[in-house]
Amino acid sequence: MRILNNLLIVSVVGTILFSGCVRKASFTGEYPIKPVPFTSVKLTDNFWAPRIKKNADVTIPIAFHYCETTGRIKNFEIAGGLDTGRFQTLFPFDDSDVFKIIEGASYSLQTFPDPKLDAYLDAIIYKIGLAQEDDGYLYTNRTIAEMHGGGGLHEWANKNRWENDSISSHELYNLGHLYEAAAAYYQATGKRSLLEIALKSADLVNKDFGWGRTKVYPGHQVIEMGLIKLYRVTGEKKYLDLARFFLDVRGPEGQQYNQADLRPVDQTKAVGHSVRATYMYSGMADVAAIEDDSSYLNAITRIWEDIIYGKIYLTGGIGATGGNEGFAGPFVLPNMSAYCETCASIGDIFFNHRLFLLHGQAKYIDILEKTLYNSMLSGVSLSADRFFYPNPLESNGQHERSAWFGCACCPSNIVRFVPAIPGYVYAVTDKELYINLFISNEADITLGKNKFKISQKTNFPWDGKVEISVKPEKSIKFDMMIRIPGWALNEAIPGGLYKFSDLNNDSVKLLINGEPYEIIMANGYAVISRKWKPGDKVEFEIPMPVRKVIADERITDDINKMAVQRGPLIYCAEWPDNNSGSVLNMLIKKDAAFTTEFIPSLLEGAEVIKTEGYQTKRTLDGKIEMLNEEPVTMIPYALWNNRGAGQMMVWLPTSTRSTRPLPAATLAFRSKVRSSKMTKSLNAVNDQIEPLSSSDHSVLYYDWWPDKNKGEWVEYDFEKPVTISKTKVYWFDDGPDGSCRIPDEWEILYLNGNIWEPVKAYGRYKVTKDEWNSLSFKPVTASAIKIKVKLNTDFSAGIYEWVVE
Ligand SMILES: [Zn+2]
Repeated sequence: MRILNNLLIVSVVGTILFSGCVRKASFTGEYPIKPVPFTSVKLTDNFWAPRIKKNADVTIPIAFHYCETTGRIKNFEIAGGLDTGRFQTLFPFDDSDVFKIIEGASYSLQTFPDPKLDAYLDAIIYKIGLAQEDDGYLYTNRTIAEMHGGGGLHEWANKNRWENDSISSHELYNLGHLYEAAAAYYQATGKRSLLEIALKSADLVNKDFGWGRTKVYPGHQVIEMGLIKLYRVTGEKKYLDLARFFLDVRGPEGQQYNQADLRPVDQTKAVGHSVRATYMYSGMADVAAIEDDSSYLNAITRIWEDIIYGKIYLTGGIGATGGNEGFAGPFVLPNMSAYCETCASIGDIFFNHRLFLLHGQAKYIDILEKTLYNSMLSGVSLSADRFFYPNPLESNGQHERSAWFGCACCPSNIVRFVPAIPGYVYAVTDKELYINLFISNEADITLGKNKFKISQKTNFPWDGKVEISVKPEKSIKFDMMIRIPGWALNEAIPGGLYKFSDLNNDSVKLLINGEPYEIIMANGYAVISRKWKPGDKVEFEIPMPVRKVIADERITDDINKMAVQRGPLIYCAEWPDNNSGSVLNMLIKKDAAFTTEFIPSLLEGAEVIKTEGYQTKRTLDGKIEMLNEEPVTMIPYALWNNRGAGQMMVWLPTSTRSTRPLPAATLAFRSKVRSSKMTKSLNAVNDQIEPLSSSDHSVLYYDWWPDKNKGEWVEYDFEKPVTISKTKVYWFDDGPDGSCRIPDEWEILYLNGNIWEPVKAYGRYKVTKDEWNSLSFKPVTASAIKIKVKLNTDFSAGIYEWVVE
């Protein structure tokens, strides 16, 4: 029998939980604004509600399925003595996926009661309990290794507990997710089983860590947020103090990669691994709110500005580079290689939501909404069973969502985030009701001592009309704060990294009970201060014309380009809708006019944007010509890659200087290309797009990664024998962070009859980066030519372009 203790479900949102349990009387600090829990907000719309349903019907079951088939669950069974064997999975942090999926399933059970899932959770939690050691330690890799005399201990873990956590063991990372899951499961079901495991663990961590005890900082942050949830659930200040310890013990002598090169209070820049970063900033926001700590507040305010002024993509994605899975320098925002990890989008939503709860300013929700509707949403397919890890803004067809990953952080984060989305719609103080997101719903609002119902009707994000009905039983006075999105006020993003290229003069019109109401703005909100009567109705329309966006010119990959936005949605051109699949060579006129059309049958219903553009082509003498005008169709970025892999582009060239023209019919282009490692990117070598440097991530390259310390080759097979005497190659080299360098050596061979012979080179084979490496040789008549490359002992290599004349 399942007993729901509804009294405990006082307030749950996303990963922020405000428990109804008694706090210690002396300790009442909290966020000044409280979210209305998702359990009080029932979505009735056609956009998010079906996605949350699919998360319950599809994503959660397959996530548990993969936890079973990959051995993640079996790890707990072995550690708990229910089974025998070695550690089953790849990474010591694989325990965390199970915890995250339990967290998501707990949220989901609130909306979709499911006795089978409930019983399944009971069974998994029983196994987790068995896997926990007697003193509270929980880390299946070590427990299983110790059963085998230490054999199978992961190389990331030290032979002593905790000692390697600031480097790689992820012991505290796993526990952070355990605590979040335990708080969610307890609040959702009233059952203490997982909470008891978490508290036993947290008490061990509290015994082992602290000033005068072990002073190791978490290598991958998240335990800070987790401990604060345990503090909220139990009211025990020791968990808050421990969260604070894990922040204060960090830096200044650690790595920038995990934000340990400075003390958190001294940090001003977003650096390093972006998921670790946003989890830490969120934990800092919690401490700043609860302890009213201005040093933490100042640090996260400056870090937020650093992100918004130069390190965020138009889609809301953060973390530009894959080498560190994290932030690059300001304005380094390449599109095709954009990392924008799905987890980082979710982490940034946590961070911005907390800043809103601290300050009540709409700009934080503007970023949250941008991330939610674009880079987060692209992380999961329409079918809800395939996932992106990176979310690039441009593709040549090399990107495709996967069913699962060896490192499964992103799918398990989707599992727990999606069912919590209704918790981001509203927030309250004693006197104010904030309406942050526009989604049709029915909600129960508690405002001070008053409880009442409210409903929203809208077809957002396709249409900006919103109708809000307030249904108090008797009249009550409060301020309704309706967020007017920055994009409706000619602000593409707070801080101006992106701008609309033209002004829109349509203003938001607001009616109360059918009568026009003059809007008074405060902190980005239209404030309606009145005594609300049963049946009061607010109607408004946020204009949603198609907007052209341009980027700060310091973002080199976006120069002479524009993007297209409508409402919160960023658009892209994708292969199935355009030019027989050829998108990357397109060009749009700056003064292009747009039309829109809602197509119910497309991508489960989507508003498309249409305009006219041109394909561009390179001529044999190197010029770029525009071909005939053609229709261009754009879809919401978040919906791309639901019809197979192919070309996609968010930033559309507006000048021949920024296009990738179709190649001219050069000798190399007319050849058949083969290589020692055939990949989709092989066509980069003769696409005639020259990079600006050997690490220009905006240009396609071909590489042999992860191979190293061996010979490789690329070959052009000519249509018929030709006489050649010159060649040049431009090497790819993503050092010092990446895994490719210029090769040790290269050599040109030609096919003479059926024998490969080296050419007689005039001069030496130059091997330098950031420029063409040219070679002249004694003319030969060949039916094919081959470039042989000797890879470095420690690095792979790659080619941007290889020309033969
Ligand atoms: Zn991830």
